[in-house]
Amino acid sequence: MTTTLITGIGSLVTNDPAHGTGPLGLLTDAAVVLEDDRIAWVGAADRAPAADTVHDAAGRAALPGFVDSHAHLVFAGDRTAEFNARMSGRSYSAGGIRTTVAATRAASDAELDAGVARLVREALRQGTTTVECKSGYGLTVEDEARALRIAARHTPETTYLGAHVVAPEYADDPAGYVDLVTGPMLDACAPHARWVDVFCERGAFDGDQARAVLAAGVRRGLVPRVHANQLGHGPGVQLAVELGAASADHCTHLDDADVAALAASDTVATLLPGAEFSTRARYPDARRLLDAGATVALSTDCNPGSSFTSSMPFCIAVAVREMGMTPDEAVHAATAGGARALRRTDVGAVTPGARADLVLLDAPSHVHLAYRPGVPLVSAVWRGGVLHG
Ligand SMILES: [Zn+2]
Repeated sequence: MTTTLITGIGSLVTNDPAHGTGPLGLLTDAAVVLEDDRIAWVGAADRAPAADTVHDAAGRAALPGFVDSHAHLVFAGDRTAEFNARMSGRSYSAGGIRTTVAATRAASDAELDAGVARLVREALRQGTTTVECKSGYGLTVEDEARALRIAARHTPETTYLGAHVVAPEYADDPAGYVDLVTGPMLDACAPHARWVDVFCERGAFDGDQARAVLAAGVRRGLVPRVHANQLGHGPGVQLAVELGAASADHCTHLDDADVAALAASDTVATLLPGAEFSTRARYPDARRLLDAGATVALSTDCNPGSSFTSSMPFCIAVAVREMGMTPDEAVHAATAGGARALRRTDVGAVTPGARADLVLLDAPSHVHLAYRPGVPLVSAVWRGGVLHG
């Protein structure tokens, strides 16, 4: 057993109101004791117990590691030209996914694995200690199963997204593709996945198709989450709530009934401002969801087409500036909100028994994540008790 005392924390976000003020459970002049991969103690620095090693935070702010509950990291290829063209005036359509599908199918296992590892490291440097990872760029039985096997080497939060877009081979037979996704592809993928997801959107899968995909996944023990209401209003959010999905993701185009349904449910509204940023689209209205009482998570949607950022601090800054969130709400959504979206109780909070995931900022307050956008403020990260940085 090894214990580490992190003391001299000027301002600590615990996300546990038992420890401090407000929903963030904010403590000043705080200390945290890590014991192996768990948090053992949280409290006032002048009352901290002794430990094997001591780390002086010198007045810096600390918060739980970010929980990025929506990312697409298993892919190959480059879509710089598409982004460049779009920023020169062309609008986004779901068809761009097929470019990445071709490159991903052509890539070796080692190339795909190295790509995931690089992005997980990149995210870790920016404070992300838990990341979800979807398939969805293979779209064959073998390529989807391969993507999930590779993802599972890097995170337990693996999501089967065979229903990302209709595979090019099935362009004239979308019903046949849904049969594949709910049949042989699901059989091959379910052993490597925790979640099932579907892109419920015009140009991808309609409400009936999405329901079939999610129901088939549930029968195999997977838990649903849904790409819902991103590009326009559709049935995705209502379907997510009806099926008890852990999360409805994007939630950009909502009517009053969608907001009410989310607020009355355990389905988290996961907002992905990187996608709107990178497609020059309208941002989701986080204020409306929060005021209605919905639980909101913030995530990166890291993917090569519509949101190639791995930065949770970036998402926090945009959410505060463009989506009506307070800095406290955005930090909560990027930590505790993400944990809720992944139905995890061991991450997203700094409290005894939680995993030892902690971020130290070169700043006196978590508010600086929005106040100083684009500045690399993360000075140290503990993930499972291991110090990085
Ligand atoms: Zn996505």
